[in-house]
Amino acid sequence: MKQRKILLTENEIPEKWYNIIADMPNKPLPPLHPGTKEPIGPEALAPLFPMALIEQEVTPEKWVDIPEEVRDVYKMWRPTPLYRAYNLEKALDTPAKIYYKYEGVSPSGSHKPNTAVPQAYYNMKEGVKKITTETGAGQWGSALAFACNMFDIACEVYMVKISYHHKPYRKVMMNTWGADVFASPTDLTEAGRKILAQDPDSPGSLGIAISEAVERAATDPDTKYSLGSVLNHVLLHQTVVGQEALVQMEKAGDMPDIVIAPFGGGSNFAGLSFPFLRLNLEEGKNIRCIASEPASCPKLTRGIFRYDFGDTVGMTPLLPMYTLGHNFVPAPIHAGGLRYHGAGVIVSQLLKDNLIEAIAHDNLEVFEAGVEFAKHEGIIPAPEATHAVATVFKEAQKCKEEGVSRTILFNLCGHGNFDMKAYEDYFAGSLVRHELTQDAIEASLAELDTPIPQ
Ligand SMILES: *Cc1c(COP(=O)(O)O)cnc(C)c1O
Repeated sequence: MKQRKILLTENEIPEKWYNIIADMPNKPLPPLHPGTKEPIGPEALAPLFPMALIEQEVTPEKWVDIPEEVRDVYKMWRPTPLYRAYNLEKALDTPAKIYYKYEGVSPSGSHKPNTAVPQAYYNMKEGVKKITTETGAGQWGSALAFACNMFDIACEVYMVKISYHHKPYRKVMMNTWGADVFASPTDLTEAGRKILAQDPDSPGSLGIAISEAVERAATDPDTKYSLGSVLNHVLLHQTVVGQEALVQMEKAGDMPDIVIAPFGGGSNFAGLSFPFLRLNLEEGKNIRCIASEPASCPKLTRGIFRYDFGDTVGMTPLLPMYTLGHNFVPAPIHAGGLRYHGAGVIVSQLLKDNLIEAIAHDNLEVFEAGVEFAKHEGIIPAPEATHAVATVFKEAQKCKEEGVSRTILFNLCGHGNFDMKAYEDYFAGSLVRHELTQDAIEASLAELDTPIPQ
């Protein structure tokens, strides 16, 4: 009997998160103050985040306990299933074995609640009354709205105005879980009013929405701010994904040669791959971990390793990361969640040390792969997840050409059921292959006057 679906019981939800920093040969460089450019300590983050999360941001401990209250909420959808993609393997006529971890079974449809839930929990424990955040495509805003509702905290989401109008049902999801959603720029903040004075019809941007959410948190002692990717504690929380997958692969009697995940800021990639990288670092295993990014926002494959701001305005600490420059504006392709100029600090250091790999795919190639996947495996991947599918196709093809069987595991980190507009545009032929010139990248990088890491 072919076993297609590998399931775990509630008791097999991990009890600890895995902190890869403990095993990294070169530790991440410190963040710098945006003004003085001197290293800053964790206390600089105190106005924005609860202490428990700041401690997790810098902890050297290898394993961090998952609170029982958080595991109880995880039980609503975790452990998530691991699938063997028999139909897809057959269709691709490849000797490769293909597995995928499916995070689309969460309430909001992606991996993001894995960190939204502990973030809301620690805020609640420290008496925070309200959490603010920004959202672009709406995946993060809906995950945080769900999590805040579970712990009785108010949630305020600044949603990029153009997405607010293009993706009305994401907004209604957030409202259903009790969150207030505002089309950013708003007239509720200094930052928003300033933009509206210059351009009353501004479509908004993630950079503006971040400024608004941060300002609200910084100016109200009962309010904190929350981020859904990039930061160390976010990557830490996502490691439940890979720890479960490791046990599931063992149950299937298999072990991946290659682990693949789409890459925006690094959270779902870290979540799946770090527990497998642990085996490379601890036991000398040689599992290839590949991050899949869009060719229109290729910070890992064409950016540089440099200190840069996390936001467009230049308010955040300077972080050592692969970046295209904080002024880089990606073309409006549909994988909203991958349109970020930089990469998380840990993942950047791992790439610099050649411990992980990266690949870029153009926007037609990924939808082609996504549609093919849906036809054989049923699930319609989120536009972000189709990037990983495209990398899987490439590696499966290589196996076929070389006549070798390798085991491939990838992160199907969300479904695309709220992203039908993107698929509609693809079917209508209105998506064009987007070429990003070297001149455009160099022009953006030339604007950086931030320190170069030694
Ligand atoms: C947010 C998001 C991403 C990109 O963010 P990462 O932090 O890189 O994971 C990718 N896929 C989905 C479905 C998302 O919601």
